[in-house]
Amino acid sequence: MRRIVVLGAGLTGLSAAYHLRERGVAAEVLERDAGPGGACRTVERNGFSFDLTGHLLHLARAESRQLLGSLGVRRALRSHRRRASVALAGAVTPYPIQINTYRLPREVRRDCLVGFVEARMRPEEPSGERTTFADWVMSQFGEGFAKHFFFPYNRKLYCTDPAELTSDWVGRYVPRPSLVDVIEGSLGLYRKAVGYNATFFYPRRGGIQLLADAVAATLPPLRLGVPVRAVHLGARELVLDSGETVGWDVLIATAPLPHLAAMTADLPTELRHAAARLRAVGVVNLNLGVRGPAPRREHWLYVPEERFPFYRVGIPSNHGDVAPPGCHTLSVEVSVPAGAPAPADLAERCLAGLSELGLLRDRSSVEVTEQIRLDPAYVIFDAARPGLVASLRDHYLASGVLLSGRWAEWKYSTMEDALWDGAAVARRVAS
Ligand SMILES: Cc1cc2nc3c(=O)[nH]c(=O)nc-3n(C[C@H](O)[C@H](O)[C@H](O)COP(=O)(O)OP(=O)(O)OC[C@H]3O[C@@H](n4cnc5c(N)ncnc54)[C@H](O)[C@@H]3O)c2cc1C
Repeated sequence: MRRIVVLGAGLTGLSAAYHLRERGVAAEVLERDAGPGGACRTVERNGFSFDLTGHLLHLARAESRQLLGSLGVRRALRSHRRRASVALAGAVTPYPIQINTYRLPREVRRDCLVGFVEARMRPEEPSGERTTFADWVMSQFGEGFAKHFFFPYNRKLYCTDPAELTSDWVGRYVPRPSLVDVIEGSLGLYRKAVGYNATFFYPRRGGIQLLADAVAATLPPLRLGVPVRAVHLGARELVLDSGETVGWDVLIATAPLPHLAAMTADLPTELRHAAARLRAVGVVNLNLGVRGPAPRREHWLYVPEERFPFYRVGIPSNHGDVAPPGCHTLSVEVSVPAGAPAPADLAERCLAGLSELGLLRDRSSVEVTEQIRLDPAYVIFDAARPGLVASLRDHYLASGVLLSGRWAEWKYSTMEDALWDGAAVARRVAS
């Protein structure tokens, strides 16, 4: 019988094991953490539940609801219509900004409208060439939206100049309205919900951990708390921290690609260099459990201006039962270059920024502070990425290692994608 090993019990690894089991194929799941879930985990502190940054379940595929039903969690999830805004220039306007400039100061609205019209009037560039994200924004939205939102927001999110990013990742994530939509949006007349995240599901009680726990509950016991220390491709063997070796015929690897490469003892030097060139940012997530009612009714706010350290602030208690009665939670997200230490004054600057935006009225009402780091968090889509990823993927495949999931495939994707990445890799292995 073939020995199938899954490295990582995040949603991708769990889903791979679940779908293999559905086909009658057993797999051994190895996870370094004490519990399953990876990035889809929740920590509990003094009655507050904090996800590792906001994790809302956006479903784009009809069959996902069926999968959630099979996992027995469909009823435990509640559907929400997004309430998201952009805080900019002393105002707060609904998201997406492209069709909602009406609440912004007149000068900002003017810049956005004029730039958009000018961009529409420019002759189209010949397609086919890979464009930078900066060029793509200028051609799609024009100078005003670029200057006030897309450039500062993405510079802050990716810690990288938008001219160094490609536009490969934008796909379904950035809504592209028509001129009429933008004009209506400047007058407050645009009413339709748009974008991949217009609706989402979230557990009725507790945090997003529910989803990972539900998949794990369908599986034989996972091997938790067993960090993999080394990978030997030639011998098809993993070495655990304890020194134990685990052989594989097929290895489904869901750990971040640069980490996997660093652990692979017999990776050729040029591929080791290729992996070292993969870029990402980490996210420092400052969670606050606060006494009193929530300061606003949004689920989250985007904060593009560079003078604020954070790019987004969530109010998770507005969509989930994650705080004791009479309290609310705030989830503040700050990007830092992958592996780099967070600035020492970060928490203080975040608290000052929250106060300035009216999101934290009184610092003494903060009952719990929990700082979490996800690293890597966002892959940087630069021009080198596709070639580097392809060369590593092909090399691993030749030794029976399939890369699956957001960080192993080094891409931008959601929890729903992770569930289907796991299903796809299981199908491949089983057949
Ligand atoms: C800031 C942020 C916000 C997000 N928000 C959303 C959202 O709102 N909605 C949404 O749908 N998606 C969101 N996502 C995306 C979502 O988190 C991922 O798509 C999904 O969790 C990926 O799951 P995965 O299993 O591929 O990876 P992971 O969850 O990272 O799982 C990999 C597992 O491998 C384990 N592992 C790694 N190395 C080793 C080792 N050496 N030995 C043993 N085990 C190891 C890890 O501990 C981990 O459990 C967000 C992501 C980020 C970064």
